[in-house]
Amino acid sequence: MILGRKQLLINGEWRDGGGKPIPVVNPATEEVIAEVANATKEDVDAAVQSARAAFEGPWAKVSARERGRLLWKLGEKLMEQADAIATLETQHNGKPIFESRQIEIPASVECLQYYAGWADKVHGETVPVKGNALVYTRREPLGVVAAIVPWNFPLMLAVWKVAPALAMGNTVILKPASQTPLTALELGRLALEVGFPPGVLNVITGSGSTTGQAIVEHPGIDKIAFTGDTSTGKGIMRSAAETIKHVTLELGGKSPNIVFADADIDAAVRGATVGIFYGKGEVCAAGSRLLVEASIKDEFMDKLAARAKKMSVGDPMDPKTRFGALSSKAHFERVLGYIETAKKEGAALVAGGQRADIGTGKGYFLQPTVFGNVTTDMTIAKEEIFGPVLACIEFADVEDAIAKANGTIYGLAAGLWTKDVKKAHYVASKLKAGTVWVNTYNVYDTAVSFGGYKQSGFGREMGMHALDYYTQLKSVWVDLN
Ligand code: NAD
Repeated sequence: MILGRKQLLINGEWRDGGGKPIPVVNPATEEVIAEVANATKEDVDAAVQSARAAFEGPWAKVSARERGRLLWKLGEKLMEQADAIATLETQHNGKPIFESRQIEIPASVECLQYYAGWADKVHGETVPVKGNALVYTRREPLGVVAAIVPWNFPLMLAVWKVAPALAMGNTVILKPASQTPLTALELGRLALEVGFPPGVLNVITGSGSTTGQAIVEHPGIDKIAFTGDTSTGKGIMRSAAETIKHVTLELGGKSPNIVFADADIDAAVRGATVGIFYGKGEVCAAGSRLLVEASIKDEFMDKLAARAKKMSVGDPMDPKTRFGALSSKAHFERVLGYIETAKKEGAALVAGGQRADIGTGKGYFLQPTVFGNVTTDMTIAKEEIFGPVLACIEFADVEDAIAKANGTIYGLAAGLWTKDVKKAHYVASKLKAGTVWVNTYNVYDTAVSFGGYKQSGFGREMGMHALDYYTQLKSVWVDLN
């Protein structure tokens, strides 16, 4: 045990949870590095009461500008402690320290400070109406928001919810994934340090089935902001219906990355690799289905396989490593299962496919894996693997590419590679996805909204549009007769 036992943050105080503590495992070493509290229904209730009291009391008295100032300070504090928090992110998730320190923490800081700027810039309108009346609108917070987040970007996906929610005057109960709870707890600690009143940001750890379910069913919560698996999202929507909670869902994907014959082939090969292998493929928007135009397929696949084979898997704590360990044993075994299924169903393994050893004999390391000759009926063409496994499918022409790209239940993101501007815009307009990247992949900015079409969910995170999902509109009529 390195980090000891972690408690719940409720009403500005650290306290034990009622359930059996949950071990946190470093997937690169297979060692238990900490234990976190397992919040029961009673703990969830205490968190809801604390968030409600803060919402109705001290937080309601804090001006919008002051909320923004607190968020900005939280971003500054996070940056000051970036090295330590990035280390935790890598230890519980297995991602390279390069990604935690140079990408995820700066992106989280940027998000906090972006929404700090919005805090005092969202306001109502006056409405011209018939008769002698003044009608104006107010943008009011929803109340108590529960943010339930997965294990792939534990801190950043928490911040994507916490920052706009707090900017708009809500209070928050944050529940990280049980595999990766450490950095969310740090966010709570920093929020207290910079002066957020007790109860404004509560962080409760625990399993999805107990803690998560208790949150979803609690009548005192006004909104669930969820990121995770599509099947979990469906259950959350059903449970939330009982008390008509607001719900936003950021769910799974099986995003197509389309390479047309007239693309810059080398750039597309690089884009295809970044698209699937960034974040070990544990990225909701991963370009996990590569669609290649038939006339360039052989050349493209040769280059792609060579590039994938050159990628080395390494110790996540080594700053040079770009590809770390998969997040957990269960997930690692699930991904290996998909590789076996792909072989059985007749896909051609052109790179990887095996456990990787970084010299320690430990850790859930997998070689970057590419399958060619995949057809749309195969399991790996349809189901989200959420790992470093690329399924390459050939297409005949533009309409075939669009049909295949849109041919899954998901619609989170898509990429396309072509030098033809007309074709690029035409295809972008036809793709049923919340984000389309043209001649690039996996790029994000806090100012750009992100979210799904179809069973990849609804609602948007980041950008100005996320604010709509953390406010409600009130119309006020004043009789002037
Ligand atoms: P998951 O659905 O298993 O868990 C996500 C969170 O929900 C965790 O905190 C978990 O404890 C909690 N949870 C589980 N069951 C619950 C229940 N019954 N009630 C309430 N909460 C519950 O997902 P995961 O395996 O942690 O994450 C991977 C998934 O997340 C993938 O499908 C991926 O595509 C998706 N994801 C989507 C986005 C996006 O923005 N669309 C981003 C990242 C990840």
